[in-house]
Amino acid sequence: MSGKVWLIGAGPGDPELLTLKAVRALEQADVVLTDDLVDPAVLEHCPGARVISVGKRGGCRSTPQDFIHRLMQRYARQGRRVARLKGGDPCIFGRGGEEAAWLGARGVAYELVNGITAGLAAATQCGIPLTLRGVSRGVTLITAHTQDDSVLNWRGLAAAGTTLVIYMGVAKLADIRDGLLEGGMTASTPVAMIENASLPSQRECRSHLADMLEAAQGFALKSPAILVIGDVAAASQQVELARSA
Ligand code: SAH
Repeated sequence: MSGKVWLIGAGPGDPELLTLKAVRALEQADVVLTDDLVDPAVLEHCPGARVISVGKRGGCRSTPQDFIHRLMQRYARQGRRVARLKGGDPCIFGRGGEEAAWLGARGVAYELVNGITAGLAAATQCGIPLTLRGVSRGVTLITAHTQDDSVLNWRGLAAAGTTLVIYMGVAKLADIRDGLLEGGMTASTPVAMIENASLPSQRECRSHLADMLEAAQGFALKSPAILVIGDVAAASQQVELARSA
């Protein structure tokens, strides 16, 4: 039996949001390399597998990406079935593209398995429709965190008029606010900040572009969190108001 690597998205946290395909791959895996945003309950689908944590949190030094590549290659060459588990979707700010390219270049068989990305889950779990007829015709997924500290094109993002879904933004709230305001976005644009989306510990903080930093501080917003910026970010509140009227 020749080895293989599945690059699997484990979804946003709630183990019920795993795909059937992810579960089937986990059931067949001999070795699981897991990130730390993955809920331990997900690992119940691979009771016989050897589980290796390659996460970047918990006070440990991050596992170098190159080391993860080599581990996957080594186990696959031994004929093992390797599940590389990542939070959300493997190809949304998840290095799935890099890992797939690395494996492909060395002739290691791999398969990408979709997961529900945190940005989509966070909005839906709060009743925010990221697209809404007459309100939002599109969505832009961005990260506030860049490897080279390059600046985003805030003016372009503000002008596009699509809903913004921002990953890794908690430490960059002031930059995001300033960039979008200077880029021409209205100060009263609704903002929703969603922490631990889909988990029992999920919390959401609603605010507006101009006061999002103070709101987040008052709320003690912590990572992991998703920011949704745009008119739809007030939508579920409108639904609530309509219901109670
Ligand atoms: N591949 C992942 C993203 C990894 S980047 C995906 O598709 O979801 C890590 C960032 O994802 C975090 O900083 C945070 O912005 C977001 N994130 C991941 N899980 C989250 C969760 N349960 N709730 C809110 N944000 C989350």
